Amino acid sequence: MSINKMSNPNTVLFTWFNQYAGISLKTPSKMLVIDPVDIKAKNFKTVDAILITHEHYDHLDPPLIEEIQKTTNCSVIADSASAKKLQYAVPKEKIQEARPGMETKIGEVTLKAEKCNHPAQAPVTYIITSEDNLKIYHTADTLPFPELALMGQKEKFDTVFCTVGIAPNATPQTGFEIARLTKPPLAIPYHTANLQSQEEFAKLLKKELPRTSCLIPEQNKIYQLSKRI
Ligand SMILES: [Zn+2]
Repeated sequence: MSINKMSNPNTVLFTWFNQYAGISLKTPSKMLVIDPVDIKAKNFKTVDAILITHEHYDHLDPPLIEEIQKTTNCSVIADSASAKKLQYAVPKEKIQEARPGMETKIGEVTLKAEKCNHPAQAPVTYIITSEDNLKIYHTADTLPFPELALMGQKEKFDTVFCTVGIAPNATPQTGFEIARLTKPPLAIPYHTANLQSQEEFAKLLKKELPRTSCLIPEQNKIYQLSKRI
């Protein structure tokens, strides 16, 4: 995986690296890693920030975070339950707690934590806005919730990641509902080990939301995201 290569202006590169919500994002200037599990620390040479959405085992691996943080000296932004579990793994000054509504900057990249409808202690979702204003919504394991509609109108996301499996009650239909509420030009089904569930999501989009395209990612491949036109 060599996502560390330069990302062009107005684009962001991403890789989906496990069957859950593990995503790395390379903006023109920053490298972000979200919910790293089931991957070796050596895959990440330079990292500016690790983002954690909630404390479940498929999203939070404290020894792995400790290792990545030590080698890259990155910041860690985590929901409050995960932040607590990371208190001995990450230096205090390098960890920041994320609660819904919280906003922070990694250089020129803006991170905003939002609500997450998932049975964890204090889960969050993340809106990542690149230095070129490309907006990506990483929805963690969330099920649809009504505020997503207003958020979609306000934020005008370029890309939304939608959970289609594994998490409690998550299905291609609930993933589709997230896309229907947020209406991005591009929706990406993830958090599944089952290609069929991603294809079902794509079918629902094509039928019910023809203006939203679907990208079914393969694990560990690099994809380029662009701004909506
Ligand atoms: Zn999960």
